[in-house]
Amino acid sequence: MKRIGLMGGTFDPVHYGHLVTAEQAYYQFDLDKVVFVPSGQPPHKMGKQITSREHRYMMTVLATTSNPHFEVSSIEVDRSGPSYAIDTVRAFRDRYGYDAGLYFITGADAILEMLEWKDSDALLELCEFIAATRPGYALHSDRIEQIFGHRANKIHFLEVPALAISSTDIRERLKDGRPIRYLLPDMVINYIELVGLYRE
Ligand code: NAP
Repeated sequence: MKRIGLMGGTFDPVHYGHLVTAEQAYYQFDLDKVVFVPSGQPPHKMGKQITSREHRYMMTVLATTSNPHFEVSSIEVDRSGPSYAIDTVRAFRDRYGYDAGLYFITGADAILEMLEWKDSDALLELCEFIAATRPGYALHSDRIEQIFGHRANKIHFLEVPALAISSTDIRERLKDGRPIRYLLPDMVINYIELVGLYRE
């Protein structure tokens, strides 16, 4: 029985916090692989300025290329319209069958709002969730039960110290001309510099 991690995110840009999260989830949840799924058009960011899907996809490919159990899917990048998680998880369910374990991995802040996502009931039937948090991010099991009720057992938490790194901080550093080295892979930094991303 396959156990697949689906690493969902905008990845604007992808950084070591994401990579450490995926690696830790791979190990801790005994996954066969982790598939990074950069969003095409994140539904909750309509009207907000984000980097083009092609650049975010390319940066994710460059960041993950050295890890044999990481893959990148262009499923959301190739799909027009809002990138709903339900469409993605259904596609992976079709690909891997109903016996496979599917684990949608993303930031805890996003998962806490998951009941507002499209078809969240169906989503909770189709996969489990791994909510990545940074240390000190207090999340009591009472709160999870309050939000998810009897489905709270579908939400797992993963504390990742490297999530002190954030895409927002990296974008601000680039805008201000502050250093970003060691926050994300050199190949991604080179791509950002080559294309001239995040500079005003
Ligand atoms: P976000 O709201 O930008 O991020 C929330 C927090 O989670 C941020 O601190 C972010 O840090 C962190 N984060 C995001 N992805 C992560 C990951 N894979 N691992 C660890 N931390 C992560 O979230 P987003 O990236 O736009 O969306 C997260 C996922 O939820 C995406 O797959 C998106 O498609 C999905 N989503 C679906 C729906 C829907 O189906 N209706 C609605 C909302 C979100 P960084 O900024 O550093 O990444």
